[in-house]
Amino acid sequence: MIPRSVFTEEHDMFRDSVRKFMQREVQPHWEEWEEQGHISREAWLKAGEAGILCTHIPVEYGGSGVDFRYSAIAIEEQGYVFASGPGFSLHSDIVAPYILHYGNEEQKQKWLPKMCTGEVITAIAMTEPGTGSDLAGVRTTAVLDGDEYVINGSKTFITNGQLADLYIVVCKTDTTAGAKGVSLMLVEGNRAGFSRGKNLKKVGMKAQDTSELFFDNVRVPKENLLGQKNAGFIYLMQELAQERLSVAIIGAAAARACYDATVEYVKERKAFDKPIAAFQNTRFKLAEIRTELEVTQCYVDRCLELHCEGKLSIDAAASVKLWATEAQGRIIDECVQLHGGYGYMWEYPVARAWADSRVQRIYAGTSEIMKEIISRTI
Ligand SMILES: Cc1cc2nc3c(=O)[nH]c(=O)nc-3n(C[C@H](O)[C@H](O)[C@H](O)COP(=O)(O)OP(=O)(O)OC[C@H]3O[C@@H](n4cnc5c(N)ncnc54)[C@H](O)[C@@H]3O)c2cc1C
Repeated sequence: MIPRSVFTEEHDMFRDSVRKFMQREVQPHWEEWEEQGHISREAWLKAGEAGILCTHIPVEYGGSGVDFRYSAIAIEEQGYVFASGPGFSLHSDIVAPYILHYGNEEQKQKWLPKMCTGEVITAIAMTEPGTGSDLAGVRTTAVLDGDEYVINGSKTFITNGQLADLYIVVCKTDTTAGAKGVSLMLVEGNRAGFSRGKNLKKVGMKAQDTSELFFDNVRVPKENLLGQKNAGFIYLMQELAQERLSVAIIGAAAARACYDATVEYVKERKAFDKPIAAFQNTRFKLAEIRTELEVTQCYVDRCLELHCEGKLSIDAAASVKLWATEAQGRIIDECVQLHGGYGYMWEYPVARAWADSRVQRIYAGTSEIMKEIISRTI
């Protein structure tokens, strides 16, 4: 593979420690976590201790204050061990930035240090049973009543939904204003009237807790508003770029892990008295996969560089998400094919990766929505 130039020696040292963490604290728990439908709280605390959570958060709020490449490393190393269970990246790279960028000093002091240690687990609740792609169409409302907002509505498909202690909830604070009536509200998991629905049964990502959430007259102090009232939609548009880049990064990493596993497999597996690696079809397929991986990785790395320079536009983030997740789908599907029937067996990592990868083209905005965003700039 083409050597990557996006990381320094310091990044490589961090990668080494994250790799050891993933091999020691994540990989061995795969089956147990899949059976229970979520990872353990202990794993969150250990990730915090290992300095894997919220690395980019400034030191004064408990993070390491490093660039987004460190987040990328944590995401990739999780992908390389096929671990789709831990929602570390959603917590660190998607939720934490909202609090850092739009929270007031009190909110940052209250939440960020505990998010860095893993004592507080977070989630972001945008999607509702009736609306996903059309975020401006959310129906959950937050109505000011004295010094409190009263929240009513429901959310679904929320990652970290069962374990989270704190949710950023996308609400309507003005039901007549469309996108201009959207606000972000911090809701603690122990508020009266708040309840978690069932841990949803999914096709893949079985160790990841994904939930419905219900808000029945949930009262939160008005200080729980994150940022300005009715500015939530703009915040979402700004922050979704990093979310989409993160999804592209995991896509490239998961595809790479499947390619590596497949190369090993085809050298061992025999048919017609020779390793299946000897067939021209196998060699050509692997050549195609590796080339597509190289293209994808170079593209993801360039977008990562741009993001670290603060130059990754919303449409560029949509493009890299579109490309990397579609490529991931194609590559992993071929890897399954090269495994034959074993590629369809859950105990084989490529089978899990195949099931896990399907949602990459759906969440954080579907491929079709990515095309909408890109095409608006043409
Ligand atoms: C495992 C998992 C984890 C998730 N985690 C979270 C989370 O943590 N927080 C959260 O808020 N959400 C989360 N989601 C929700 C996810 O972001 C949504 O499912 C996604 O945005 C699509 O919304 P939808 O399911 O309502 O599909 P719909 O919006 O109903 O879309 C259905 C189909 O219509 C297409 N479509 C819709 N609009 C257009 C259009 N304008 N042009 C062309 N085609 C269109 C879509 O592309 C799709 O193919 C998660 C989902 C899953 C499955």
